[in-house]
Amino acid sequence: MKYIETPKTTQGCIFCSALADSDDVTNLVVARGERVFVILNRYPYTTGHLMVVPAAHQPSLEKLDSLCRAEMMEWVACFIQVFEAVYHPQGVNIGINIGEAAGAGITDHVHMHVVPRWLGDTNFMSTLGMTRVLPETLEDTYQRLKTGWDEFKGKP
Ligand SMILES: [Zn+2]
Repeated sequence: MKYIETPKTTQGCIFCSALADSDDVTNLVVARGERVFVILNRYPYTTGHLMVVPAAHQPSLEKLDSLCRAEMMEWVACFIQVFEAVYHPQGVNIGINIGEAAGAGITDHVHMHVVPRWLGDTNFMSTLGMTRVLPETLEDTYQRLKTGWDEFKGKP
């Protein structure tokens, strides 16, 4: 039954592809750590919507080691502060969807969403078909958050 032991493929995984590639701008990778990295969501719920992703290709939190889980949470805390410096949000949503039934778009590689929120933001982001209208481009968001991270003093 050797095939069962074969590691799940990372081919076609957008997180593993982004991690393996050196072009962080194209891939929207904002920051890289020892066990985690931070990447913008290409289909953001609000401006600044990013994801803290473990380097390990695993479908769920319990498959990660505790150091990795701790680093994920540490980076979430850092990026809340980067949000505060760059976007001054009035709130932040943090969430993980594990499994298709829970709403995970990518089920094979667990990731933590970090979404800045403003009062009434669901009103000004009118929805046109499947396209959300956002007040700035992904490229602008990337540059602002990258600069915010570069200037952030509390890195782990
Ligand atoms: Zn992956």
